[in-house]
Amino acid sequence: MYEERFDKRRFDELRKIEAETGVVPNAAGSARFKIGNTEAIAAVYGPEEVKPRHLEHADKATIVCKYDMMPFSVPDRAKPGIDRRDMEISEVITSALNRAIFVEDLPKSMISVYVYVTQADAGTRCASLTAASMACADAGLPMRDLVAAVAVGKVGDSIVLDLTKEEEDYEGGTTDIPIAFLQSKGEIVLLQLDGNISREDLKKAIELGRKGAQEIYEIEKNALKRRFL
Ligand code: UDP
Repeated sequence: MYEERFDKRRFDELRKIEAETGVVPNAAGSARFKIGNTEAIAAVYGPEEVKPRHLEHADKATIVCKYDMMPFSVPDRAKPGIDRRDMEISEVITSALNRAIFVEDLPKSMISVYVYVTQADAGTRCASLTAASMACADAGLPMRDLVAAVAVGKVGDSIVLDLTKEEEDYEGGTTDIPIAFLQSKGEIVLLQLDGNISREDLKKAIELGRKGAQEIYEIEKNALKRRFL
């Protein structure tokens, strides 16, 4: 039984969040998103000419995303360079951003998104996607809405919001579900599942994720307002 969380949070409580935009002066848009001990920095370039040319689409923008974990982001030192996990995470971030950005309004152009994880304590793909979406908004790209992402899951018998690495590794068993929403549309733009869960518990987890994402969404909007208003 997992009755009390390792860090004493409520089951439906997010870790402490910091969010800011405009952190990379040389990029068209950028953002830093920190949740507990997980931190991601995103920088966006474009829209610009597509290179290499074969990636060009006549009817929409091409989004290229690179996710990477810094070697110093975890206690054991992450192996430098891009591995299969990095490629998978880059893919899911690209796919979510394709839903968030009006890519059809930017044909024959390229948007490059670089996301670096400086500290990792689980939930890095969610923090990265959230930072990337704030950076896209900071770059002034036309968007349906911001993306708010968070991991939910089951630790032991409990449905919890925003898992830490310690919770992911809980010996009584864990199911990890990164989820992301286009909040005002209620649309899910990322949903992955690592572990087992009943249909009923999955529904509860998704609803918990929606609540957590709403809180993250407000924080993202405030960070952008601080920069532009
Ligand atoms: N992790 C690590 N070394 C790695 C990859 C991951 O220590 O090379 C840790 C890190 O804390 C990460 C966590 O494992 O946040 C969970 O990784 P997962 O692949 O589930 O993705 P994430 O939860 O970060 O989106």
